[in-house]
Amino acid sequence: KDIDIPKMLMQLFDDAQMYNKSYDHMIHLHIDSTLHILGYEDYLRSALSNLITNAMKYTPKGGEISISWYECDAGVCFSVTDNGIGIEQRHIQRLTERFYRVDTGRSRETGGTGLGLAIVKHVLYQHHATLDITSTVGKGSTFTVTFPKSASIPTQSLNPASPQS
Ligand code: ATP
Ligand code: MG
Repeated sequence: KDIDIPKMLMQLFDDAQMYNKSYDHMIHLHIDSTLHILGYEDYLRSALSNLITNAMKYTPKGGEISISWYECDAGVCFSVTDNGIGIEQRHIQRLTERFYRVDTGRSRETGGTGLGLAIVKHVLYQHHATLDITSTVGKGSTFTVTFPKSASIPTQSLNPASPQS
C-alpha cells in the first residue's frame, strides 16, 4: 500500500510535541513531502514512533532532536538525531535484541521493556529496509533507516490528476 510517510511524520511530530511537555526538547522536522513508499502503515508508524520516543527518552531535558525524511543514495532515508546520552559502542550491536536495554541510570528512570528496537528490526526487515546506528557517549545518537529504491513511489504516479498528453 502507498504510504504517505510525510503525513505520518507530521502526526508523529504532533504526538511528540504533546509528550514533549515534560522533556522540553527542541524538535526539528525536515521532510521531503514528495517522497512516499510502499509498505504496511501501522507497522511503520510503530517503528518510526519508537525511534522518535527513544530519542526523547534518552535525551536530557532541553535537548535537541532532528527528524528527517529525504532522498538518499540507496533510496529513501529516515533519520532521528539526538544530542542525548549516547550509547557505548559495545552495546550498539545488541540493541535490536529483545529485552536488551543499556543499564544506565537514565534507562532505569525512563522505564521500558527493551522490545521497541526488536520490533523496529522486524518491521524494517519486512520492508527490506536497514537500520544504521551511530552514537557517541555523552554527545548523542543517530538512527538512520534506509528504504530501498524499489519501495519508493515516483512522484508522478502519486498525482493521477496531472494532465494527460
Ligand atoms: P521500549 O521501547 O520497549 O519501551 P526501550 O526504549 O528501553 O523500551 P528499545 O527501544 O528497544 O527499548 O531500546 C533499547 C535500548 O537502547 C534502550 O533501553 C536504551 O538503552 C538504548 N537506546 C535506544 N535509543 C537510544 C537513544 N536514542 N539514545 C541512547 N540510548 C538509546
Ligand atoms: Mg523504545
